[in-house]
Amino acid sequence: MHTDFQIDGMKAFFVKGSCANIAFRREQLNKLARALDVHEHFLHQALYDDLRKSPVDAYASETGFIRSEIRYALKNLHRWTRPQRVATPAGLQPAHSRIIPEPKGTVLIIGPWNYPAQLVLSPLVSALAAGCCAVLKPSELTPHTSSALHNLINNTFDPEIVRVIEGGRETAEALLEQPFDHIFFTGSAAAGRSIMAAAAQNLIPVTLELGGKSPAVLGADANLAVAARRIVRGKFMNAGQTCVAPDHVWVPRQLITPFIKELQQTIRQFYSGSPQHSPDYGRIVNRRHFDRLTALLEGSHVACGGQIDTKELYIAPTILTNPPSGGTLMQEEIFGPLLPVLPYDDEQEIIRFCRLRPAPLALYLFTQNRSAQKRLMEAIPSGGVCINDTVSQLIPKGLPFGGRGASGMGSCHGKAGFDTFTHFRSVLRRSTRFDIQAFYPPMKVSLENLKRGYRFFAGA
Ligand code: NAD
Repeated sequence: MHTDFQIDGMKAFFVKGSCANIAFRREQLNKLARALDVHEHFLHQALYDDLRKSPVDAYASETGFIRSEIRYALKNLHRWTRPQRVATPAGLQPAHSRIIPEPKGTVLIIGPWNYPAQLVLSPLVSALAAGCCAVLKPSELTPHTSSALHNLINNTFDPEIVRVIEGGRETAEALLEQPFDHIFFTGSAAAGRSIMAAAAQNLIPVTLELGGKSPAVLGADANLAVAARRIVRGKFMNAGQTCVAPDHVWVPRQLITPFIKELQQTIRQFYSGSPQHSPDYGRIVNRRHFDRLTALLEGSHVACGGQIDTKELYIAPTILTNPPSGGTLMQEEIFGPLLPVLPYDDEQEIIRFCRLRPAPLALYLFTQNRSAQKRLMEAIPSGGVCINDTVSQLIPKGLPFGGRGASGMGSCHGKAGFDTFTHFRSVLRRSTRFDIQAFYPPMKVSLENLKRGYRFFAGA
């Protein structure tokens, strides 16, 4: 499906300047909060239909998350939007230097299917807080949620301020031809490359929230029961279809057997002996991803799980050992409920493995040993780090969330999200009362004197 959307109406509205008004921004954020009250049930039902997410799961990882982003933005908006005064060097005085946060303009937000509501509405909160107008293009792979978002947004906002345009890749490509002022993309690295290339045509800045193979590493001192609980929760939420899910786990060789036993017990405790009937366990988004994941089972030893049901697109929480080293399982992001557990004898093996691959979104370390934490953090680059837990690094609002290299560029959540959609405009205002002639050509100052006085003029 293409779109005949033209950005001109939105741009014309933005130019009128109402969006920059702080009261206007608050009103839009409150409107979104009220719309969530009304549409939450429909969104939860859509998330169930698309991914079999329970209402508890949907609230925890989608609608509740968006509500807390709105509350945080409303609480901090005054502080974030305040112009900031900075020092002016003596040589320019009398003068006044300020940084004025201004909305970037009209922005495009393209979302993926795994957290299909959160990953378009959370950037929308940041865009509205920053005073921008926005077009949202949700994923076509979660059609119920896309349609629920269409109803929520298009029945709430003036179409010149925010609107949802549904469709697939062709729709996204058509939207990318429009001269937006920022593009916020969440999805695969392959699509990220196309987005960046398209954005380059109009010199549009981009934020790319991508994925990667996020490793978890257990130290010899790790609390195995706690590590198992936190890894199982982070890995198998949304059936492993989470960008920051631990992709695989490194375990000291002598702890492999007891740790796998802990993982097996934890999976049974969390999802019962039959995860297919657990209300807390989801499904694979479509047949293509189901086939991709079941093909990844080939060649490894299944230590737990491995059951599939094609009709339901169900894959059990699965623990794998001895994966083929050159195979896709250990080369590409798994993005599903398969967890390879790998033994190590020496940290250098892990470091070598990670450094041969692009930087992932997250690095998970399970150890109390501060020097081991520091060593591994320094040796393994990643977007973020979480020590003795998984996924929780997304919760503190003060922590920017984003990737590095192939896992993305730019960041979101809280103030980082506000900054993404804000242009920080530098303004220097000088007085005309003094006008030192020595600063104009023909220059009367010698190079020696300029070198001596430069510090005074430049302030450092
Ligand atoms: P995807 O790249 O296939 O699709 C994402 C969106 O981009 C969809 O709306 C799709 O219609 C559109 N799209 C696809 N190809 C395009 C193209 N060539 N040009 C323009 N638009 C295009 O990604 P997906 O399968 O929906 O999501 C899975 C990926 O997203 C995983 O790699 C995962 O790690 C990553 N992800 C990252 C984050 C994060 O916050 N960093 C969050 C969730 C998912």
